[in-house]
Amino acid sequence: METIFVTGGAGYIGSICTEELLNAGYCVAVFDNLSEGHRAAIDPRARFFQGDLADRDSVQRALHVSQASAVMHFAANALVGESMVNPSKYFQNNVAAGLNLLDAMVAEGVKRFVFSSTCATFGVPDRMPIDETMPQRPINPYGESKLMFEQILKWYGNIHEITFVALRYFNAAGASKNFGEDHRIETHLIPNVLKVALGQKEAVEIYGTDYETPDGSCIRDYIHILDLAQAHLLALKANQSAFYNLGTGGGTSVKEVIECCRRVTGHAIPVVEKPRRPGDPPRLIGSSDKIKNELGWNPRFQNIEEIVKSAWAWHQKHPHGYDQRKE
Ligand code: UDP
Repeated sequence: METIFVTGGAGYIGSICTEELLNAGYCVAVFDNLSEGHRAAIDPRARFFQGDLADRDSVQRALHVSQASAVMHFAANALVGESMVNPSKYFQNNVAAGLNLLDAMVAEGVKRFVFSSTCATFGVPDRMPIDETMPQRPINPYGESKLMFEQILKWYGNIHEITFVALRYFNAAGASKNFGEDHRIETHLIPNVLKVALGQKEAVEIYGTDYETPDGSCIRDYIHILDLAQAHLLALKANQSAFYNLGTGGGTSVKEVIECCRRVTGHAIPVVEKPRRPGDPPRLIGSSDKIKNELGWNPRFQNIEEIVKSAWAWHQKHPHGYDQRKE
């Protein structure tokens, strides 16, 4: 049975992709330093290597021992705001450490790669929805670090014959039955709204109500984590290198997300209106025509309601996330 080497398999997206790979019959080797991820988020069916991508030897050893035939690379830092105050962390972890992984692959003869990229590589786009022909002009070190890695991939593809698929995520959200979103410092909208419904926060803050959008709040393209995982399984089987945007083609405003959470949870969810958050584009919506046409991606959860319901079910079961001590 084919083994997939999953970096960041203890994180939100990596844990659920690991679960879906295992459900599809693959073996999975998770490589994670647990800096952001959680031990309890690693599917017990996976083999776990605790290690750091900054340590080239440890990643190569794990790759060798696992005998993996492909790599899915989720391990990275992904907060725009943090990248604006600590760019070094983003270039070190997202670019330099990622290079160690690619070099270990070259040394071990592993030729397939699936990369977690981001719509943040596009910056503030001229039109919507964002497709793959549009220029990439990141406006923060996070987006820049992911774009740099996309470019590195092209060269490793050319020179070392690695076949890669880079998936540029829009807003990953929701949960599977077993695994969900639990960041030590939560900055994302849906988990923060659900914390209010769980009684762990008084109110949710809305960052900006004066945008040029119908209700004044920012619009994002929320994609269900299980649909996102499905795209990774298809990417693994792709026979040529490609870059794909992974959105749904539709957008939901911050206020609409909160309203949806009120319906799903039955909680009033008070809000506090705050100024805009630096670095937030008003609207980000992705076109997924290319991945639909070329890989046959067929998302199953097309509305925000399904996404919020799945997240709410997981958060109710795990009110303190993966931290058992508080439960
Ligand atoms: N947001 C908000 N309150 C929060 C968290 C986020 O109003 O507590 C807004 C944020 O400004 C953005 C949208 O919700 O417009 C989605 O933010 P998130 O951090 O979830 O994802 P991002 O789009 O930044 O990757």
